[in-house]
Amino acid sequence: MRKPIVAANWKMNKLKEDVREFVQDFKRKLPHGVLGRVDVVICPSVAHLALFSHEGLLPVGVAAGAQDSHWEDKGAYTGCVSAAMLKDLKVRYAIIGHSERRQHFSESNAMLAGKLRASLRSGLAPIFCVGERLEARDGGQTMNVLGEQMAALSDTPAELLGDPTQLVLAYEPVWAIGTGKVATVEQAQEAHAFLRRQLSTLRGEAWAQDVRILYGGSVTPENFGALIKCPDVDGGLVGGASLEVDKFVKLIEIAAQGA
Ligand code: PEP
Repeated sequence: MRKPIVAANWKMNKLKEDVREFVQDFKRKLPHGVLGRVDVVICPSVAHLALFSHEGLLPVGVAAGAQDSHWEDKGAYTGCVSAAMLKDLKVRYAIIGHSERRQHFSESNAMLAGKLRASLRSGLAPIFCVGERLEARDGGQTMNVLGEQMAALSDTPAELLGDPTQLVLAYEPVWAIGTGKVATVEQAQEAHAFLRRQLSTLRGEAWAQDVRILYGGSVTPENFGALIKCPDVDGGLVGGASLEVDKFVKLIEIAAQGA
């Protein structure tokens, strides 16, 4: 039985006071007992991660996540943040390979393989994103693209992939991110089942069954209920809808009901 995850990706949004207000309101509205049934992660801008650790802002049971993490522990990489630095701030998760980083920062599969290794080495659970562009979907190439992106994981030494709960995948079709277009339940389930088969080839069926695979791409309280019912969908990576407390709380409640 995999515990669902609802992860907020706030991207480059919110200022310090907005973060404080969100969390206060979120604490008030989150129903009692729900955190025992769902893992909740909030990934704010890196500028605000220290608020979570220094001010103890997050409720117990809600984890902090970063939106990226470097492949080296330290060194001459201006503007970058390492997994070791994030761990030092009590961050538990890091999004790796988000399509916006692949697109705007030309992150290659090889770079992402390095980021995955560094993250796992430091004990930071990666939320590794894969997903096809519209041309690939229209051209029937979705599974080929996902297979290529998953190759970053085959480069990860087996000893770093011992605990399946320390790895999270996110299937995020690029055409669905921030567009209001959501994958159908059939498209999501097909892609998630494919990813789980890839995991099984990598480390065996039992291990693959314990890895959580999130769906991401225009998730809202209106469409999430159907998606979370898919056998291989274990939660959501949520951008836009996670910026509003009421919607985010609703998504967590839906995941808790589906669990
Ligand atoms: C994302 O950025 O990972 C995402 C899925 O965004 P949105 O929910 O806004 O589509």
